[in-house]
Amino acid sequence: MGLLALGTALEWPEAKKRADQVREWGIKQLLEIWNKAKGKERDAMLWGDEVEYLVVTYSKEEEKVLLSLRQAQILEALAADKELAKEGCVPALLDGPVEKPKSHPLPVFHPEFGRFMLEATPGKPWGIGFKELLDVEPDMKLRRKIAKEHMLSKEHPITLTTFPQIGVPGQFTDPYYPPSGSKLRSQFVPDEIANPHIRFPTLAANIRWRRGRKVQVNVPVFHDKNTPTPWKDPTVNYDLHNWPEDDDVRNGAAPDDFIHMDAMAFGMGSCCLQITFQAKNITEGRQMYDQLSPLGPIMLALTAATPIYKGFLANTDVRWNQISRAVDCRTPEELGEKPLKNDRWRIPKSRYASNSTYISTDPRLRPEYMDPDLVIDPKIKAKLMEGGMDDLLATHFAHLFIRDPIVVFEEDLQELDLNKTDHFENIQSTNWQHMRFKPPPAENNIGWRVEFRPMEIQVTDFENAAFSVFMVLVTRAMLSFDLNFYIPIKKVDENMERAHGVDAVLKERFYFRRNLFPLRPSRANTAFGEESRPGSAMPSRSGSPGLPVDDEYAEMSIDEIINGSADGGFPGLIPIVESYLDSVNVDVETRCQLATYLSLISKRASGELDTTARWIRNFVAAHPRYKHDSVIDDAITHDLIGAVIAIGERESAGKNFAGLGIHGLPRLLGRFRGGCGQDPMTNGEDGDGDLVAL
Ligand code: ADP
Ligand code: MG
Ligand code: MG
Ligand code: MG
Ligand code: MG
Ligand code: MG
Repeated sequence: MGLLALGTALEWPEAKKRADQVREWGIKQLLEIWNKAKGKERDAMLWGDEVEYLVVTYSKEEEKVLLSLRQAQILEALAADKELAKEGCVPALLDGPVEKPKSHPLPVFHPEFGRFMLEATPGKPWGIGFKELLDVEPDMKLRRKIAKEHMLSKEHPITLTTFPQIGVPGQFTDPYYPPSGSKLRSQFVPDEIANPHIRFPTLAANIRWRRGRKVQVNVPVFHDKNTPTPWKDPTVNYDLHNWPEDDDVRNGAAPDDFIHMDAMAFGMGSCCLQITFQAKNITEGRQMYDQLSPLGPIMLALTAATPIYKGFLANTDVRWNQISRAVDCRTPEELGEKPLKNDRWRIPKSRYASNSTYISTDPRLRPEYMDPDLVIDPKIKAKLMEGGMDDLLATHFAHLFIRDPIVVFEEDLQELDLNKTDHFENIQSTNWQHMRFKPPPAENNIGWRVEFRPMEIQVTDFENAAFSVFMVLVTRAMLSFDLNFYIPIKKVDENMERAHGVDAVLKERFYFRRNLFPLRPSRANTAFGEESRPGSAMPSRSGSPGLPVDDEYAEMSIDEIINGSADGGFPGLIPIVESYLDSVNVDVETRCQLATYLSLISKRASGELDTTARWIRNFVAAHPRYKHDSVIDDAITHDLIGAVIAIGERESAGKNFAGLGIHGLPRLLGRFRGGCGQDPMTNGEDGDGDLVAL
């Protein structure tokens, strides 16, 4: 997350008055980028991952696990060492079995929304070579190790999506701060939980202010055998009178059978795994954006890792909708709760939501795939088209630009600088969709990029590397075979909802295109003959291969989508990736390592290996303190976090998990590196199971 320069952040009533100016300047900056970069060609096929961490304070002896709020100090310590690194002192960081990948700069650490979070990326993006894919896992392990070395001994970076006890009554942060500050006005979390950079508290406060009430992050509780029905969230206080927003719960914000949360931190405090790809040119970038979009919900369900909120088991497995609600700035008019009077339109989705547009100039993009209810700002679209942008891309940005900027700095509104992208990014980077189309930044030599954002973070770096590498391979196969994943974008929305269910990976079916290999209609016959001609890029019917759209897709299990259907009618993404790897030159060692990653994905899809969410649920169910009442108490949290820390530490110490036969750990980790001459059950360094000595 890039930080805007410091300045005077406007409170919402003032910021709102400047919204049109920000949008207008943002559009001018966008057109400037567009005109400069639309013809950019032959950019390298680079990519990069982002791993996010929670920082917890944990010790074996103390039952309470806390979120450490020392993000700033940890980042300062890391930055200081980076200076050392420049002077050639890096090896001090690097003793032990985790090695710095050859010829790759040290990882980079970034701040995040939560003051208990960190983000780490590779020191520079990964290149096109297959061998480089083998550097990803060691690099991720190195990041964890470096992060840990810059923390206190009781602090640990862990890759769980959410902290199980965030927002529970009593202490859950280190140090303790009482809740109910002026920015978040949450009855559960203190303002100090957010990164103190003015941008973050302002973002949270202005979202609340714009909405006219606090955000409502309600997630259905999981009804276990001793969970009362109806269930009333016992942590909700109906008698607070500090802020006007304390009325929210008295006005029905906390319905029965839902875990009630009321602040941005409950969503934006979640960790995810993101992948950014650079395309060779804008056309390929637009293609990647569209083709990866239908894979979003599938990868969300496959990486499911979020079964607990605020000390209770939830009846959903992923973080997505909770983040969506945690930053939903829509007013009652926009939500359709009141007739439109002051606002411009009804808006069906939060600014954090699955994508609503396709943007490719691919003739296989049929008009039927588009969202018929898409809300756009027609004036912005007209300006973009007057500036030379084609209809489809202008539509995309005119959709993003229906949103108000939330954080506006007074100083930035004095003079428009067309060499910057700040106003454009203000809107663009607060539209948190599951795909992001990233235009080249103003100054440097970066190309058109596409970001894949739905995946949940995994406990181990083996898993995080596996999912990252899988997405790279799917993308390469897609480009190489010109695969067609299009389904109507509304079906992608529906899939996103389905991905939330408990064990959705096994229990749900998802809309997916039946035939990924149809012919492209010839370009000459379509409206795409001249790609950048204004107004020429709406998909035309001549792009249709003839089938009714509804016959192009079917409901499939994730096992079928990933591994192929039993009757052979659908090939499956992994077999497609395998045939792509067959078609290129990959040495045996690399291929073998890639096979361990593909095996993890394959077994997750088939159910042979558990998702992280399932593993956590099983861990809780088996815990002696769990009363089957959906409550995750201090002891369960302590042991769960203890297990997660131990897994991470042992992994970065180079240990192999195969053979650890308790609590389903091997099933979670999927450390069956079979197929390369090793017996997965005997190659582990030990099998004594002391890892989760509870
Ligand atoms: P954001 O937080 O806005 O998504 P980051 O600056 O954290 O973006 O970078 C996201 C990822 O993109 C990182 O892994 C980084 O290495 C990678 N990246 C940076 N430049 C490029 C590029 N030109 N092509 C592809 N990936 C890139
Ligand atoms: Mg991030
Ligand atoms: Mg980032
Ligand atoms: Mg950034
Ligand atoms: Mg990102
Ligand atoms: Mg041992």
